[in-house]
Amino acid sequence: MSELPSGAVAVFGGTFNPIHFGHLRSAVELLEALPLAQLRFMPASEPPHRESPDVAAEDRAAMVELAIAGESRFVCDRRELNRVGPSYSVDSLQEIRSELGEQRGVCLVMGCDALLGLPKWHRWEELLNLAHLVIMARPGWVLPVDGTLGELLRDHAGRGEDLEGEPAGRVVTQTLRPQDISATNIRALLQSGFSARYLLPESVLAYIAERSLYAKQE
Ligand code: ATP
Repeated sequence: MSELPSGAVAVFGGTFNPIHFGHLRSAVELLEALPLAQLRFMPASEPPHRESPDVAAEDRAAMVELAIAGESRFVCDRRELNRVGPSYSVDSLQEIRSELGEQRGVCLVMGCDALLGLPKWHRWEELLNLAHLVIMARPGWVLPVDGTLGELLRDHAGRGEDLEGEPAGRVVTQTLRPQDISATNIRALLQSGFSARYLLPESVLAYIAERSLYAKQE
């Protein structure tokens, strides 16, 4: 495996059920806006904060791998697939931190929707000891100014360059170009027998068709 260049490692967790151009465009924009060496898509096996997806984690990871083929800075991190029980980000970040050493900048990427639920995450207060948080600002979402999260955003506010200069502990907000695409919408289209073309890569659509995932319900 080639040596990782300098820069931070970003970890983009999600169910990716399925991965789509909203995720992929956000990831490209993050690579271009921030000093990142690599961005890892990390599919959750059993997401703790939502119902378990009916499509197997192996299939969701396979779709991520198809979608990112050819972009060398994107990686599919399959560690949560092999873990029994809920996929806690804090456990994954702890492993990633020990693999990458104490100096490398590591960032956990999340949307504003995920940020609002952060105080309910398992051992969430430890996350900033292990990684930075990169918040993807999306239209229609207002970042909290009060309460625990408002305080967190103020106390840990950082800039892009901090992500590689420091290993963890900063919160950086990155505004991304909106893509009005969601996996929920794609599943609904397919389940109703409509096309989801141009919302996600053709290779992923072919994988879905071959295995009749999200198939039309009679
Ligand atoms: P679902 O519709 O099933 O909730 P989703 O499309 O939101 O799925 P997830 O796998 O749940 O996808 O999302 C993982 C992360 O990607 C979340 O942090 C979410 O905020 C972000 N995300 C999802 N869709 C987009 C999009 N269109 N643009 C930018 N970020 C997105």
